[in-house]
Amino acid sequence: MTYDPGNIFAKILKGEIPSHRVYEDEHTLAFMDVMPQAPGHVLVIPKKGSRNLLDADPQVLANTIPVVQKVANAVKEAFDADGIFIAQFNEPAAGQTVFHLHFHVIPRHEGQGLKPHSGKMEEGAVLAAHAEKIRTALKG
Ligand code: AMP
Repeated sequence: MTYDPGNIFAKILKGEIPSHRVYEDEHTLAFMDVMPQAPGHVLVIPKKGSRNLLDADPQVLANTIPVVQKVANAVKEAFDADGIFIAQFNEPAAGQTVFHLHFHVIPRHEGQGLKPHSGKMEEGAVLAAHAEKIRTALKG
């Protein structure tokens, strides 16, 4: 299995398709999932392409996990979450649909279920408002 540089997240990285960005540094980008499983669902991706975790450069993982942690804490604060679900799928059999490594950061509230994975598209205005809340929490 090889990495396809034409995948949708590679296009987001290049700015060829729009995204609601919440965080960016030299190695990583974080943006809103367009089909959130809960309000505040963010994806964290490394800039260096790999298909998923299985073929990733370990140094890329080392650069990315601190950002997953940073974003998880900001999402927890912004959405007053009781917990944070981190998910990461490798290959279609495991549920992967976009083949550029990404970590799902999903706020959880006691007693509230999750919407389906890759379910319904959220409105742009809602995603923009959620991104703003997370960016504000990241500044704090
Ligand atoms: P996975 O199934 O783990 O590969 O997850 C891919 C995720 O990407 C799903 O949660 C989709 O909702 C999300 N997604 C697909 N296209 C886009 C896009 N253009 N912008 C943001 N998120 C996307």
